[in-house]
Order: sequence, then structure tokens, then C-alpha cells
Amino acid sequence: LYNMVQDLKGNIRVYCRIRPSFSCESKNVIDFIGEDGSLVILDPLKPQKDGRKVFHFNQVFGSTATQVEVFKGTQPLIRSVMDGYNVCIFAYGQTGSGKTHTMSGPSGGSTGDMGINYLALNDLFQISKRRKDIIDYDIHVQMVEIYNEQVRDLLVQDSSTTKYPFILVILSHLNFISLERKTGPQSFCVSLTIYKLEIRSCTGDNGLSIPDATMHSVNSTADVLNLMKYGEVNRVVSSTAINNRSSRSHRSCLTVHVHGKDTSGGTFRSCLHLVDLAGSERVDKSEVTGDRLKEAQYINKSLSCLGDVITALAQKNSHIPYRNSKLTLLLQGSLGGQAKTLMLAHVSPEDDSFSETVSTLKFAQRVSTV
Ligand code: ADP
Ligand code: MG
Repeated sequence: LYNMVQDLKGNIRVYCRIRPSFSCESKNVIDFIGEDGSLVILDPLKPQKDGRKVFHFNQVFGSTATQVEVFKGTQPLIRSVMDGYNVCIFAYGQTGSGKTHTMSGPSGGSTGDMGINYLALNDLFQISKRRKDIIDYDIHVQMVEIYNEQVRDLLVQDSSTTKYPFILVILSHLNFISLERKTGPQSFCVSLTIYKLEIRSCTGDNGLSIPDATMHSVNSTADVLNLMKYGEVNRVVSSTAINNRSSRSHRSCLTVHVHGKDTSGGTFRSCLHLVDLAGSERVDKSEVTGDRLKEAQYINKSLSCLGDVITALAQKNSHIPYRNSKLTLLLQGSLGGQAKTLMLAHVSPEDDSFSETVSTLKFAQRVSTV
């Protein structure tokens, strides 16, 4: 089965992907990529030997690697969800390093070069078809984003049950008015009641950590494409409804729920989390204030919580601090225990990103050696 190979490698693994360079002026800091997962980068300010930094991961994908090659690297792990394992794959790296490209594909997956989210579901459908005589699979998805520690459903469609779209329209209107009158005597405070989805810390009987997010049954890649498109639109609508909001949320957490029933009536549930994290870049406190600073602090906190959880798991601590952030709470069932976790660390090859590249690689190295 898909797990056996994977089990030998431990439950947490780290891949690194380098995106192509888009600038002809900048120097490429990537010095060497080894088949064994080694990666050597060169400090642009110290081109001599002492500027070399060596890292080791489970696998490294260079800038010419295709979407399908990266997907193939994750495939055994993704497939183990069909055997009842919980799996979490998350894309980490600074803004612009290629996380969304890897997970969703170019510009949210509208063109041909589909990302892992789509390829994974496509693969699960094929397995489901192949095994249909022995196991009856049900596949559902949920998709949320986390912004400033608040969770929002990106796939809400039915306004009669949730009234979301309606609220969003009013909110964007109110925000518009409040912006217009910012200088006037009245000041408006628009509160977002739509961000009220709760995450359960312990997944209940039905295995759902966000029971109130809508569940969508998917049977074909066409279903998946529709939902992904819808999620993208929803995100854009919501971000315009919030004052001063940037795109730095944990953009999308796509959760695939698998329910299997075998011929003897035995059942199992498992889930696959596919997460496009917020950019990991450090924000200079002297340069941002107000909403941006708050946003940056939320992001830093949740990314460091993720690191803490992984470290605690690796050290086999008795207390794992899942509760410290919404992100770790959401991923709880797929981090630790029997679950399998894959971190896809993304870096830019350009020399002006060097310090962020070093900090991404250091974080990734820490995760891979725990
Ligand atoms: P992030 O989500 O980390 O902020 P994006 O995925 O949006 O970064 O990538 C930034 C830009 O680089 C996008 O225009 C994207 O299409 C492009 N890009 C990223 N990775 C690749 C790649 N492997 N091949 C081609 N283009 C890429
Ligand atoms: Mg992105």
C-alpha cells in the first residue's frame, strides 16, 4: 500500500521548490541542487567559499521542475488518505515565492498548468474508481481562509442559509461610506459577523474540525474546478469588504474529506489538508503601522505556532500547543499521531530575496531535522 514506503521515511518530511527567476538583472543565489535533497546557496555579498550555505531536505525541486513533477513527489502521501491516513501538505515561503502556483496553479488555477489541489483530487477520483468494487468512497471538500485569526468559508454559495453574499454587499457599502466620512465627525466601525466559524479542537464523531463550513460533494474534476473558481471569487469579494485588507491571509485551506466503506460494511474517515500559507516574510515594524502591523503580527504568530507544534511533536512532548492558533487547531487532526505531514518550502532564486530565502530554508531545515 501507499503507506509502507512512506512509513519508512517518518511522518514529517520537507521538500523545497525554487521558482524560476523573473529578473535578468538579479544574480541567482542557487549554487547546487543534489539528487539526495541537498541544496547549496551562495550569499551574493560573499561570493567566496564562506558565503556558501548547505541545507538538506527530503527532496529539492529546481526552477525547471514542472507542476506534475512536484505533484508526483507528493502523490504517495496524498494517496495514503485513501487508506485512512490524515495528511497535511502546506506551502510555506515569502510572498512571491510560488506557493499559490504550486497549490492552485497560475492565477488561481484558471489556466492549464494545474497545481496540487486539482491534481490531488483528480488522483483520488481515479483511485476511487479503480477500487469501486471493494471500497465505496465519498469525497467532500471544504475551503476556508484564516485572516487575523478568523475563519471564513470560501465556498459558501447559498444565500438563503447563510446570507453571506448579502452581508458582504452591505459591508462593502458601509466600508465605502465610512472611508468617505473618515475625515468627518462620525466614525464608523463595521464589524464582520461573517467571520464567526468556530474550529473544534478535538475532531468529533464526524471528524470535522470546522463543522459549520459548508461541505461540498465532489465526483469529478469539473466539480473541483467550479469550487476553486468560486472560492477565488469569494475571497476577492470578501477582501474588498474589509477596510485596508491586504491579501496576506492563510489564503486557502482546502480540506478533502474521504469516507470509505468496504464490502464487509467497515467504514473509515480521513482527511487531507492542502494549505497555502500566508507569506512568511518578516515585516519591518518601523515601516508598517495599524492594520498592516496587526495583520503581520497575526501571521507571524500563527506561523511560529505551526513551527512550535511541529517541534513539540518531534520532541514527543506530552503537551502539543495546538490551541495557540486557529491554523494549528484546524490542522490538529493531520499533524502528529498517525498523520503524515509535508512541508513545501518555497524560495525565490533572486539575490534581493536572499535574507528571506535563508530564513525560509532555516525554518524548513528545523522542521525536517526534528
Ligand atoms: P506566492 O503565492 O508565494 O505569493 P505566487 O504563486 O503568486 O507566489 O508566485 C508569484 C509569481 O510567480 C506568480 O506570477 C506565479 O505565476 C509565478 N510563479 C511562481 N512559481 C512559478 C513556477 N514554478 N513556474 C512559473 N511561474 C511561477
Ligand atoms: Mg500566494
